[in-house]
Amino acid sequence: MLSFIKKIFSSSVTSNAKPTVITASQHNISRSLISHNCLGVLDTLSNAHFEVYLVGGSVRDLLLGLEPKDFDVATNAKPEEIYRLFRNCRLIGKRFRLAHIYFRHDIIEVATFRKQGEKGDKQAKALNGMLKRDNVYGTLKDDVWRRDFTLNALYYDAKNNTIIDHTNGLRDLERGIIRVIGHPETRYREDPVRILRAIRFTAKLGMPLEEKTAKAIPKTHMLLADIAPARLLDESHKLFNSGNAVATFAALRHYNVLQHLYPLTEKALSHPTLHLDTDKFILLALQNTDARVAQNKPLNPAFLVSIFLWYPLKNALEEADNSGSNIGNHSTLTKLEHAAGKILRQAKQHLAFTQAITQTVMDIWVVQFQLKGRPQQHIYTLAEHPRFRAAYDFLCLRAEVDSSLEPIADWWTQWQEADDTTRESLIAALPKPTQHKKRRRPLKKKPAKKAPAQG
Ligand code: ATP
Ligand code: MG
Repeated sequence: MLSFIKKIFSSSVTSNAKPTVITASQHNISRSLISHNCLGVLDTLSNAHFEVYLVGGSVRDLLLGLEPKDFDVATNAKPEEIYRLFRNCRLIGKRFRLAHIYFRHDIIEVATFRKQGEKGDKQAKALNGMLKRDNVYGTLKDDVWRRDFTLNALYYDAKNNTIIDHTNGLRDLERGIIRVIGHPETRYREDPVRILRAIRFTAKLGMPLEEKTAKAIPKTHMLLADIAPARLLDESHKLFNSGNAVATFAALRHYNVLQHLYPLTEKALSHPTLHLDTDKFILLALQNTDARVAQNKPLNPAFLVSIFLWYPLKNALEEADNSGSNIGNHSTLTKLEHAAGKILRQAKQHLAFTQAITQTVMDIWVVQFQLKGRPQQHIYTLAEHPRFRAAYDFLCLRAEVDSSLEPIADWWTQWQEADDTTRESLIAALPKPTQHKKRRRPLKKKPAKKAPAQG
């Protein structure tokens, strides 16, 4: 049995091989499983005598009995031809032109068949093997080989209810294996984001990466450093917000790739004393995130960012204290804001966080400080802070790692659930703030204990 599997596995599929056509009786996809809007797009293109297929994750997920996240359509119609067929169409992208067909709650993405740069086409690839150009139109047969994984290269023809499989994708799907199409190292060099996609699919589908697909990762993942932070941010949202964040995080660490998204977090996870707390804190937050997705609850994209960067922030605060830096005499809040700004600036070099995200992260952190202090006169104002809920959730997670925070988190839980009278008595029972004596003269700056750590 094993040798039979090996034989099939080693038999590489070539672009000249005939595709397998899977007929209606051999698969579980039917028109009724496809969204009304997507069927409209497929039918309009087909009635205009274009070749048109459902492709990518939608076919993969339908075959697996999962609900597709989106419906991707591939056709031999050129973008301008698609544009002429739909009043609700917009063409997007300069280098890789795509048609977006707009519906009230939905966008269907229609891509024209493309081919990989021809061998010897020096303009198509940069010196490091990265694909610069992916905009040469081709046929369905060409389009197959530019796709990333075999299970993402199945084409469903809604007219005949058949699936066209050029790469043995169905076999891999049945066996539960994620396999790069073509030579994995070359394909990762062409576009290193495929490494993150491999990790996303292995976590989402619970399927292992095929041996060569996995083995090429350590040889190529350093190229992720060349990917634009905006694209990495986009990918990182997909990695953590699709309901499999725990498995995704484990896979990112397993393949040593977290360093390209959150290098400060990776560093904190090897901190001599805090690594266990960091690990536990992140795991709890990821479990929370997955549970929210499972319950269809909204996710605040800044929340996990604030989690990932919390221990780096704590380390930065510790370093600032140890280094006796010139903000040593400032209030805790000023020190926190200073360290937070530094951490967020560093993190933005890898993931292009928007101003809205960094501001929310900063707010969540600053409100931590206030939630802990529980100033009697500001409890109501604090509870009305737009980030109160996120900051409270954050505090509860911290309390699960640091038991000294449990009474404080419990107090906030009780306070939120209480009626007005109980709220007042909860506030009245809070310890009175300690009166700080007025300083007569400013403290002299202490000489630095050791050279401040730069960078
Ligand atoms: P999901 O939508 O569930 O996240 P997907 O596989 O559909 O997964 P998309 O980003 O929607 O992912 O891409 C649609 C299809 O386009 C993929 O299935 C794959 O065939 C192809 N594709 C996307 N990104 C790449 C890439 N970087 N390299 C090669 N092919 C890609
Ligand atoms: Mg998709």
